[in-house]
Amino acid sequence: MLYNTIQLSPNFNLSELTHSQAAIENAIDNTPDEKSLENLKNLCENLLQPLRDRLGKPIHVTSGYRCEELNRIVGGVPTSQHVKGEAADCYCTDGPEFLLQVLLDSGLEFDQAIVYKKKRFLHLSLKLLYFLYFNPAAMPISTTSPMPEYIYTNNPLILSFSPYECIPLRK
Ligand SMILES: [Zn+2]
Repeated sequence: MLYNTIQLSPNFNLSELTHSQAAIENAIDNTPDEKSLENLKNLCENLLQPLRDRLGKPIHVTSGYRCEELNRIVGGVPTSQHVKGEAADCYCTDGPEFLLQVLLDSGLEFDQAIVYKKKRFLHLSLKLLYFLYFNPAAMPISTTSPMPEYIYTNNPLILSFSPYECIPLRK
């Protein structure tokens, strides 16, 4: 299937980030929507790939994107970042504690890193960063303080703040 050959970063492709045994067994179409696909690309480009480069060995994604139905079936919490394509469970032969140490030493940005000792994987997540463009038309005329042209943030509260227009950050 052509779709599955989409390369998200040099060492990660879409099929790995959407593969799920539970989805196959339950005939669930685990194809991400456009927004989740963009989030997966961000996760791979800005976290998984640079981490893999530092590790110098393969990182196997045991669970990446999960559509809502799949997430329910595997018992994930409804707010799981897996549902948005912002998280991946990562396995490497050196173990999750070692991978976490490589991550911490790298200084790479991430949202959450959770070690699953028994299952031997590291849950990693990263949200897509946004530029927020100031829209003067949306502000009250009486505003005297100068407003920024844009705000660089990944804070979901600021992202939902109405006077700003959110545009995904691109390289
Ligand atoms: Zn996870």
